[in-house]
Amino acid sequence: MIDLDAVRADTPAASGRVFLDSAGSSLPPRPVLDEVIGHLRREAEVGGYVAARERADDLAAGYRVFAELLGAEPDEIAFTDSATRSWLAAFDAVPLGAGDRVLVTEVEYAGNAIPVLHRAAQVGATVEAIPSDAVGQVDVDALRSMLDERVKLVSLVHVPTNSGLVNPVAEVAAAAHEVGALVLLDACQSLGQLPVHAAELDVDLVSATGRKWLRGPRGTGVLVVRRRAREVLRPRLVDLHSGEWVAPDRVELRTDARVFELWEASIADRLGLIAAARYALDLGLAEIAHEVGARAERLRAGLRELPGVEVRDIGERRAGIVTFTVAGRGAVEVRDELAGRGVVVTTSHAGSTLLDMTRRGLDEVVRASPHYFVEPAQVDQAVEAVSRCGR
Ligand SMILES: *Cc1c(COP(=O)(O)O)cnc(C)c1O
Repeated sequence: MIDLDAVRADTPAASGRVFLDSAGSSLPPRPVLDEVIGHLRREAEVGGYVAARERADDLAAGYRVFAELLGAEPDEIAFTDSATRSWLAAFDAVPLGAGDRVLVTEVEYAGNAIPVLHRAAQVGATVEAIPSDAVGQVDVDALRSMLDERVKLVSLVHVPTNSGLVNPVAEVAAAAHEVGALVLLDACQSLGQLPVHAAELDVDLVSATGRKWLRGPRGTGVLVVRRRAREVLRPRLVDLHSGEWVAPDRVELRTDARVFELWEASIADRLGLIAAARYALDLGLAEIAHEVGARAERLRAGLRELPGVEVRDIGERRAGIVTFTVAGRGAVEVRDELAGRGVVVTTSHAGSTLLDMTRRGLDEVVRASPHYFVEPAQVDQAVEAVSRCGR
């Protein structure tokens, strides 16, 4: 059981408003804030290099913390400055040539689809979307029928940015591995609200962000590169942290995931990210998933009762993202009206998940994402606020 009073005491702003945007950028708990601000102050006192050396053990421990959080080994973890940076670093290192195929799902995120389509056009590879099944999640049978040895990568979004859906990851990974394709899991909307265990899911690569459900600082991200994948990947964007200049004409690259890190980073944010991971682990990933799922279901149930409001979530298994539309009202208008009533939500537009939104004939949806620190009574308050939109 999560101690609601304790987590709310760590999140003072959770009382001032109904905060339903942990899928956008959550409220960091006090230990995260203290870590970031404390380190910035220390940098101002002794300089960034000395301040970082003082925290060397904690920074090193971060790889073990994230290994535990993500079901990986410490040498399979790399820290970055966003989920997109993690995703790009991994994708850029996947060998891809003319005639190769990349498979994506219909809920692919624009931040992934744009670089895939761009690079595929440059090298003469093709990008194909795996159809969704009747409930909206990736159709694993359809995937099996598409697979052959030219498929080099399957890009799978765990939880899409624009619906409550949870995709079946292990099934996709098992199918993809039969033809030797790598599986890159976008866990940006799952890490911090659902358990994401790279080894159990048997995915090769995982990208995720700090600021969403994990409640870390902005400008932080993490990448998992499983050892097996490291043998296939060809990192290109490397620096003096990724390897060593051993002779005038020769370099030796690291063999672990940190080959994908750059030397420079915000140490304060990194420490804050590690604090956020510890905070989640202390609460328990299963407990978090349970609480978030309960809040989201309560919200969906309330919204479904409202005339003119349509819940737009798809999929069989659902998580903490709740999307809806209000008849005759634009999503941005609804967002702003709710903000006026102290309810923080955001919107998702067709351009972010073009295939899925086009398929469903949607231009935009309102997105509400309640974390475990939201009181059930606040969820009801949000429903009541939505009921007044359009009146
Ligand atoms: C937000 C999001 C991303 C990008 O995360 P950044 O940290 O902004 O780079 C990637 N995939 C999905 C599904 C997202 O919702």
